[in-house]
Parts: sequence; C-alpha cells; structure tokens
Amino acid sequence: MQANPGTPAPPAKPRPVVNPWSRPFWEGTRQGKLLIQKCGACGHHVFYPRLSCPDCFAEDLAWVQSSGRGTVYSHTVVMSNAPSAFAADVPYVVAVIRLDEGVQMLSNVVDCDPEHLACDMPVEVVFEKLDDEFTLPKFRPVRP
Ligand SMILES: [Zn+2]
Repeated sequence: MQANPGTPAPPAKPRPVVNPWSRPFWEGTRQGKLLIQKCGACGHHVFYPRLSCPDCFAEDLAWVQSSGRGTVYSHTVVMSNAPSAFAADVPYVVAVIRLDEGVQMLSNVVDCDPEHLACDMPVEVVFEKLDDEFTLPKFRPVRP
C-alpha cells in the first residue's frame, strides 16, 4: 500500500544544457563576464556558441568578452502563464537583445517597469546567480 504522496513538489525551471563548445560561455557568466565568439578568419562575432563560423564556415572561433551593452531588438511581456515553474514570475519580460558586437541574445530584461520597455532601449548585462553551477546573463536599462 502506497503512502499518501502529499502535495507534489513545484516544478523546477529548466537548466541550461552545457556541451563542450558552450562550456566557456557558462564559465564566463560564473565570473561575471559575458563571452561571445569571434571568428579569426572573417572577424565576425558569433552567438550562440558554435563549432564553426556561420558567415565563412571557418573553424577558427575564439572567445572574447562582450561589452555587455546593447539595445532591445524585440520584446514581449508575459502577463499570465499556465501552471509552470515560471508562473510565480509574471509579469516578466522576454527580449531579444542586440549586443553592440552585432550578435543577438534571448534573455530577460529586469529592473524595469514592463510598461516603460521599448525597442532600441539601451541595456546592459547583469548576472543572476542560480547556484554554484549556473549564472544567467540578463539585461537592465542603462541608467543615464
Ligand atoms: Zn568567419
């Protein structure tokens, strides 16, 4: 006979999947650095982490530190959510950030009233430590 299972545990948020070519990115965020790749052959910056350059296909990608600054390219405000690990966070902002280096990154904008969010708004990276393994890069409006 099975014991009463009680209340189910709340769902956990998904964790990043780390592979050998994305590991430096996550090591960087743990140290408060936003790292992206740069192609040694054509000079383009690359994000998300890859094994070869999406512009010239060279396998000559090195890690460089981003300025951490960019602008909001597009965004949405999540106002309601089906039962999930994110339901308690509403309202929250999901945004595509265009970094000054030219690459785009999907993230959250924090420390901002969602009603004041706008495309082309200047933002800068902030780091949210989840635990000893993961620190997430998020963005906030640049204060004048
Ligand atoms: Zn290239």
